[in-house]
Amino acid sequence: MKKILCSDLGGPANCDVAIMGETFDELGENSKTHVMQMVAAGDEDHQAAIEKMKSATPEEQQKMFASFKEAFDNASEE
Ligand SMILES: [Zn+2]
Repeated sequence: MKKILCSDLGGPANCDVAIMGETFDELGENSKTHVMQMVAAGDEDHQAAIEKMKSATPEEQQKMFASFKEAFDNASEE
C-alpha cells in the first residue's frame, strides 16, 4: 500500500490529505473520490484544481500524469 498526498496528485498545494492505493490506478481512483467529495462539499480549491487539469493541453496533461506516476513510484510502501 502506497500513500501520496493530495497535493502531489494535482490537488491544491495546501491539501495534505493522504491518498492510499495498492496500485497507481487504485490510487488514482481514490484521489478522484476524495476530490469529488471535497467539491461536493463546496471546496473551491479542489474545484480550481479540476478546472486546471481540464484546461491543460494533452501535452501538459501527459506531463502532469508523468509527475503523479513518479510521485507514486517514489512513495514508500506503508
Ligand atoms: Zn485534497
